[in-house]
Amino acid sequence: MAKVLVIADIKQGALKGSTAELLSKAKAIGAEAAVVAIGSNLEALIPELANAGSDTQYIADDPGLELFSAGPYASCVVDAANQFGADLIWFSFSESGKAASPRVAAQLGAACATEITDVILNGDQVEIIRPAIANKVKQRVKINAERLVAVVRAGAFEATEGISGTENVVRLATPAADVKAVIKELISDATGEIDLADADIVISVGRGAKDQTGVDLIRALADDLGAGFGSSRAMVDGGFMAHNKQVGQTGKIVAPTLYMAMGISGAIQHLAGMNGSKVILAVNKDPEAPIFNVADYGIVGDLFEVVPLLREEIKKIRS
Ligand SMILES: Cc1cc2nc3c(=O)[nH]c(=O)nc-3n(C[C@H](O)[C@H](O)[C@H](O)COP(=O)(O)OP(=O)(O)OC[C@H]3O[C@@H](n4cnc5c(N)ncnc54)[C@H](O)[C@@H]3O)c2cc1C
Repeated sequence: MAKVLVIADIKQGALKGSTAELLSKAKAIGAEAAVVAIGSNLEALIPELANAGSDTQYIADDPGLELFSAGPYASCVVDAANQFGADLIWFSFSESGKAASPRVAAQLGAACATEITDVILNGDQVEIIRPAIANKVKQRVKINAERLVAVVRAGAFEATEGISGTENVVRLATPAADVKAVIKELISDATGEIDLADADIVISVGRGAKDQTGVDLIRALADDLGAGFGSSRAMVDGGFMAHNKQVGQTGKIVAPTLYMAMGISGAIQHLAGMNGSKVILAVNKDPEAPIFNVADYGIVGDLFEVVPLLREEIKKIRS
């Protein structure tokens, strides 16, 4: 039986949904699933980690691990992977996953694959699927190594209802501090806005919104729906939106339940960041806009007319 070690994705003390998604996938391929949680004050998370589908919880809990640092973090993962005898080591798609995964692979002598969207087990042979060339093709890659460290693309797997695990806690020794790089402080943008990666609905604004008035109009719709507010690169380059809101090849990759593209043409580089969304709705005044090739629902019209109508209808439904 294959053994999967999932690295818990913890943000500000809370477990992110991606952890349960990865554990569900591990169970779906018939593997034994364990989780490693690294941070500070993790005690309260242990039942949640078991309920998410893990049968062993490796816990590295120390005040020195509160802020992510790739060296010590990788040491904890390597320790857990060796104790568990993991064949597959899965990180969620996060900055910490991207930074720590190559170190873990190097230390374990394992193969390393990023942005995977599927894992296939054929007996002992592991294969992975990953998009390439801005999502134009999918690669199916045979892994010729005994162990695989992988970073899983956001939204690639779904959490299965009713899955559960068992509480079996193994405490890990605290690794030595990384003297080469010490994180002193975490500075967040503190806007209080919904993180695009966590949002169930993402609404993005494109050049069709023209200026700040258009941006504010679409932001109001996002606020009505409690949605994450994203952007095409055109609006970032135009100075209307912050770079951390850009969706696409050189921005964030999102896979929400609903993605709404407002005045976005659908350039390949934008699609690379959102075409894994479950349902896509596009508003564009050009019926030939390429975004309609990927949209499940399309509204051909002027967003300055369509968005107020949408807001009115949403208000009516809510009341
Ligand atoms: C290396 C590289 C990396 C890139 N990375 C990214 C990336 O990560 N993300 C990204 O988004 N782009 C990226 N781009 C840029 C990308 O190629 C496009 O230029 C960009 O996505 C266009 O943004 P847009 O759709 O908002 O603007 P446009 O392409 O100008 O489209 C605006 C759309 O709005 C419609 N419109 C106009 N007025 C209205 C109205 N009143 N109501 C409704 N619709 C209206 C138009 O019909 C048009 O379809 C990258 C480019 C390169 C070369």
